[in-house]
Amino acid sequence: MGFARRKCGKCEKFFWTLDQGRKFCPDHEGYGFIGNPPTSKRLDYIGAWKETEKFFQANGHTIVRRYPVVCRWREDLYFTIASIVDFQRAVGNKIVFELPENPLLVPQMCLRFNDIENVGLSGRHYTGFCMIGQTCNADMQGGYWKDRCIELDYGMLTQGLGIKPEEITFVEDVWMGAGAFGCSLEFFARGLELGNAVFTEFEGSENDYRIMPNKIIDMGAGLERFSWITMGTPTSYDCCFGPVIEKMIETTGTQKNEDILSKYFEAVSSKLENAEGIRGARSIIAREMQIKEEKLTEMVAPYEAIYTIADHVRTLVFAISDGALPSNVGGGYNLRVILRRALSILERLGWKGMRVADIADVHIDYLRQMYPELEEHREDVRTILDLEASRYIGSRERMNSIVMSLKGGKTQAELSVDDLIRMYESDGITPDFLVEQQVIQGVPSTFYTRLADLHNAGQGAGTPSNKPIPGLEELPPTRLLYYEDESIREFDAKILKIVDNKFVVLDQTAFYPRGGGQEPDTGEIGGANVLEVTKQADIVLHIVESAARLAEGQFLHASLNGRRRDLVTKHHTATHIINSSSRNTLGSWVWQNSAFKEETYGRLDITHHSALSKEEVQRIEQKANSVIRQNVPVVTKTYDRGDAEQEFSFRIYQGGVVPTSNVRIVNIDNWDVEACGGTHVKSTGQIGLVKIVKSERIQDGVVRLEFVAGEAAINYMQQQESQLASIAQSLGSSKEKILESFSKAMDDAEAAKRKLRTMLRVVAEPMAKNVAEKSKKLASGVHLYSTYDEELDDDYHIAVGEKAIELDPALLYIALLSKGQGIRVIVFAGAHARKKIKAGLIARQVSGALAGSGGGDDRFGQGGGKSKDRIKEALLLAEEAAK
Ligand SMILES: [Zn+2]
Ligand SMILES: [Zn+2]
Repeated sequence: MGFARRKCGKCEKFFWTLDQGRKFCPDHEGYGFIGNPPTSKRLDYIGAWKETEKFFQANGHTIVRRYPVVCRWREDLYFTIASIVDFQRAVGNKIVFELPENPLLVPQMCLRFNDIENVGLSGRHYTGFCMIGQTCNADMQGGYWKDRCIELDYGMLTQGLGIKPEEITFVEDVWMGAGAFGCSLEFFARGLELGNAVFTEFEGSENDYRIMPNKIIDMGAGLERFSWITMGTPTSYDCCFGPVIEKMIETTGTQKNEDILSKYFEAVSSKLENAEGIRGARSIIAREMQIKEEKLTEMVAPYEAIYTIADHVRTLVFAISDGALPSNVGGGYNLRVILRRALSILERLGWKGMRVADIADVHIDYLRQMYPELEEHREDVRTILDLEASRYIGSRERMNSIVMSLKGGKTQAELSVDDLIRMYESDGITPDFLVEQQVIQGVPSTFYTRLADLHNAGQGAGTPSNKPIPGLEELPPTRLLYYEDESIREFDAKILKIVDNKFVVLDQTAFYPRGGGQEPDTGEIGGANVLEVTKQADIVLHIVESAARLAEGQFLHASLNGRRRDLVTKHHTATHIINSSSRNTLGSWVWQNSAFKEETYGRLDITHHSALSKEEVQRIEQKANSVIRQNVPVVTKTYDRGDAEQEFSFRIYQGGVVPTSNVRIVNIDNWDVEACGGTHVKSTGQIGLVKIVKSERIQDGVVRLEFVAGEAAINYMQQQESQLASIAQSLGSSKEKILESFSKAMDDAEAAKRKLRTMLRVVAEPMAKNVAEKSKKLASGVHLYSTYDEELDDDYHIAVGEKAIELDPALLYIALLSKGQGIRVIVFAGAHARKKIKAGLIARQVSGALAGSGGGDDRFGQGGGKSKDRIKEALLLAEEAAK
């Protein structure tokens, strides 16, 4: 076609062009399309997708729906960061490519949080963007390689977008991934990179590699850029958010300065690379445009704010729709950061009339043409955004008051990284906020890594990390009878190996090993007690009390504890049921965070934003029991991983990633479908009953449900009932009348207290007279009365003490009362006695002598201590002080 290969005069990269005069690759060129697009078509965001879809469909590609932005199928990623990630799966430690169609095209929404500070400012950075993925397996039916790929991409640019051939430049490069690499070809027009076709051809490292049996084409192009090149707007934000920007300008009443703005943003996009970030670029541009930097900042700031908020809210729309929640942990952390950033901008600019939930609505109105699934989650998105916005306001107030107290103290600049982490974890105070408030100088460089380490440490826990047992490499995989027939409780087997007199390997076993949150079976093999069962690779290890009576090569009979297995199994199936009934009750953001299945109870941690109300717990419980009563079948079947994902969606990965190409799917009548390796009942009716006994918010974004199922549920109810019965009995009542009797008992107690107080008033006077007479007349003029009382309480001594110092103003009244394990101290000083001695001081000294603390004012003091054996010394000390 006349394209010639040239070497860039600056960076020495090779590139292809029709332009005879071109000396440099487009890396060194500013944007030449703003205000002057090089295309015959004008395509908004969705228009650009429609053209792309049409072109590739006409050329034999299957259009695949986008995958979730929350990357549930890769353990190392929270979010989908590129279109190719859709098709990457783990097999053991290796990443393989699994394509549902060949060739295919996917409009993949991707989230990236590594460049947040440039988003909204640079004109082209996003936290969420659509990567058009043109993907094929070159060595399988329907696949193609470099020539066809370039032909298609060239066709897309010229026919699809209407760019003239002489405007297009292809740049050669190399792409290196984890364990695989290949050539790549980037394509540009007017200085804007539109896409990059990667030809993944080799696996291994630079020095040790081979050609892959299945070569992969991974062309990724930014849909935002496809639209931008055809529109030539000052920023790509102007053409990629549909009506959102215009709506926000209208709502906020922002002034339009299109001329200066387009000049400014055109300059920003080309200066960003070489200047010192946006701020540096801005001062250069201000100089060139001959306006004051402050003036320029003032003009662009509201636009930057609108762009930033539009981006952040769109990212949140996708993330929340796909089941993620803003929180302080994991990927939720990034979501909360951008949401709070958007909220603080709204607050700073005084745009109080604009709600993030309303902006989300406008996004969904526009995007549903392309992503219809967003409509289904509109209410969920609004719920979460409103909730987070109100939490933000609450935390802002708390943060401000904490900051005020920090500023008042002398703690400034003395806060360690540990202090900062504690403040972030307990009060949500970010170090950035403290910098902004001038409490600290800067964010310590180790803060975010320390925080990340802290939150990663918990992952993958749950199974005891045993050191691998040596000498098992030669053994064949254990035949897993519990998968072949879950009802097996007794079996015969041959001992293949015994290690350390306690680890026994059999050729086959029905013992379920600890795994997936399910506790192992117990029982006996050949008369030896099995205490624990674990799995090491394909080998099941039975850990016995003693293997003294067992020998390698021996045949034995084994039996497992059937009642225990049945109960663990019921709790396991119940976990799946409660998981789905929680999601149905609370919202689509509910996922299993972790789970634990025991003989006596089960525990399920779900992702949810708030603690559960009693009514919510009851609704979850009712829904779960209704599924149990319907007695629907529980079907376990092994699927090809890709087929299972296509048929049941990524909801199957409740328990995490499955690193094998086959997955075992547990399907409860399509009501709950999960990939799971545990044991399950045949139909839900076998569970009988499930009762949630406790719900608790255990961390930000995670709620723990504890429950009992089957016989364990009956046991629980019976226990509750007998507790209730014994309470009723001690109230002299019956279960039926217990509430009535209880409130009567409470009333009686109140009445008795009232009666006692009246009587105290009556007896206080004569008792006080008695005290005044009995008091010891000290040389200082103070009349001391002290007592240790094991029977009467505070009420009595307060009434008597008060009266006594009224009758005798020279009196110092000290009462030590026995209270549980300790001693209570009460001190009164009369008006004359106060001249010599203060009640509060005596209370402190006496309590101190009793190994406790106390205090008070001149007239009345109180306190307490623990050392009953030092009462005498304490009282002597008081007398000494009063002398
Ligand atoms: Zn170059
Ligand atoms: Zn399970």
